[in-house]
Amino acid sequence: MAKPDRRIFLEKSPYEADAGTLIGRDPREIPLAEIRLLEHAESPIKAIRAKCIDCSGANVAEARKCVTVNCPLWPFRMGVNPFHASSASAKREVANFASPNETGGIRDV
Ligand code: SF4
Repeated sequence: MAKPDRRIFLEKSPYEADAGTLIGRDPREIPLAEIRLLEHAESPIKAIRAKCIDCSGANVAEARKCVTVNCPLWPFRMGVNPFHASSASAKREVANFASPNETGGIRDV
């Protein structure tokens, strides 16, 4: 499919300070069929993954090795949300991360 003319996603700014320059349209006001013409990922986590690979020069291995831990996207860069992990994997990760003294306090739920 041919790429859409990206100018359809822009509009003249309604803000006086912008002096009539073009700005991005509000995606909440764009029909879904039009947004899909852009062929972006349709879930936030997949969009983050795509952004991280882009940020890493289209290199998947470099996205995996990213050291910019202060980036808000860093925990999500592998395409999963670690904060929504299943309770089993979350417990395993806590056990792996905790010191030997701390693991004694972990109970099965
Ligand atoms: S976590 Fe941030 S710095 Fe690292 S690859 Fe993703 S966007 Fe780039």
